[in-house]
Amino acid sequence: MGSNGEIRYSFSQSSQSVSNLFKIDSVTGEIAVNGQLDFENLKKYEFYAEATDSGGLKDTSKVYFEVTDINDNAPIISVISFSNPVPENSDPETVIAMLNVKDLDSGKNGIVKCYIPQSLPFKIKSTTPNYFSLVTDALLDREIISEYNITIIATDEGSPSFSSKKTLNLNISDINDNAPVFQRHSNIAYVIENNLPGISVLTVRAHDKDSGNNARVSYFLEDILVNGVSASTVMSVNAESGEIIAVRSFDYEQTKEFNIRVKAQDGGNPPLSSNVSIKIIIQDQNDNAPQVLYPVQSGGSVVAEIVPRSADVGYLVTKVVAVDVDSGQNAWLSYKLQKATDRALFEVGLQNGEIRTVRQVTDKDAVKQRLTVVVEDNGQPSRSATVNVNVALADSFPEVLSEFTDFTHDKEYNDKLTFYLVLALAVVSFLFIVSIIAILSVKCYRWRRERMFYKSEANLPVIPYYPQLYADVGDRNITARVQL
Ligand code: CA
Ligand code: CA
Ligand code: CA
Ligand code: CA
Ligand code: CA
Ligand code: CA
Repeated sequence: MGSNGEIRYSFSQSSQSVSNLFKIDSVTGEIAVNGQLDFENLKKYEFYAEATDSGGLKDTSKVYFEVTDINDNAPIISVISFSNPVPENSDPETVIAMLNVKDLDSGKNGIVKCYIPQSLPFKIKSTTPNYFSLVTDALLDREIISEYNITIIATDEGSPSFSSKKTLNLNISDINDNAPVFQRHSNIAYVIENNLPGISVLTVRAHDKDSGNNARVSYFLEDILVNGVSASTVMSVNAESGEIIAVRSFDYEQTKEFNIRVKAQDGGNPPLSSNVSIKIIIQDQNDNAPQVLYPVQSGGSVVAEIVPRSADVGYLVTKVVAVDVDSGQNAWLSYKLQKATDRALFEVGLQNGEIRTVRQVTDKDAVKQRLTVVVEDNGQPSRSATVNVNVALADSFPEVLSEFTDFTHDKEYNDKLTFYLVLALAVVSFLFIVSIIAILSVKCYRWRRERMFYKSEANLPVIPYYPQLYADVGDRNITARVQL
């Protein structure tokens, strides 16, 4: 062969550009990779190799390489669109974001799947290759979760596979889907009567689970009728604080309780509202003194209770009857003897107001007895009334008459009484004189008749005559009340 048979290999002049990627053994002609191949950059290489002998003769041959892909690229997620925030009332399948995922590899190495690893009310839908949409998968509720961090993972199908992730921060915007809710469904407020107008009675509070204006609660008094009048003339409500204020003073004796309704309304559009019923209970104050119904104290007459001198111990003289328009302790009455002509003769029942004798009446006791009974309620402080009770210890009516001429202290009244007494005495005297005259007339008539009989017919019968008025005079029921 000789030196002409020695062959050397090289890249041809036109293919020097590949010499940084490939090398060729000049003796053996073996071609090896000398640099970094990248399928994603260039998939095929074509160049020429030369064989040259020592005599300078050469030949060229085309060399052809194909680069095979390996999975050396992770998917790349890019967000095309993102609706943030999304309203809480969005329907399922509402699109939140559009994503594009690229993988530079080929075949399975470049086929990408997207998913959400957490359990969230969202899902990924594939629309066209490499395009994905993030959609809602359930109903949202801002009042439960107001913000989501949604991690999206894209994985290729290479082996081993590459994956990458992207996290979207999604806010849920509020919709006015909650009405204000009162802390208590029913309320009772107590107001002591005779209150000053403008006092605070109760504060109601309602909570709204929404946010912002949708949760801003205002309070209003519902215009219902309260005992026939508009509620607003009785109570008012502070729109911001929910404080309920009494507009006027209450009288327990007129109104014991009533109901009002308060509405809580949010600032949403349209607004939502709810209402609550409030029972206002007026509490009694001891603002009324007892009133004595019996014995009657006014008017132009003196009332006296007549007690026979023969009355036993414990004889019921009379009963003081009183009422108190307050209630409870404020109307719980007790009766006490405040003054008496003779304290040892009478007692008053503490609870029932019954006046009874406590000892036997004696001849020494004055006919005229005057008792002052005080009727007191049990309020704090207590109020009282007094009543005068006139008692006559007498067995007959004239005895009473003679004594009861000065039972009143009122001058005018006394004069009136004196007039009636004089009138009564005049009538009685007149009747007495008429009776005497009548009797004398009868006696005289009979005497004359007798004398005439003796003179003429001695045995004629005698018919007695009594005037009607005289025959009626007798005892009266002395235990009865006497009114003059
Ligand atoms: Ca890949
Ligand atoms: Ca690759
Ligand atoms: Ca609301
Ligand atoms: Ca809401
Ligand atoms: Ca009262
Ligand atoms: Ca009272």
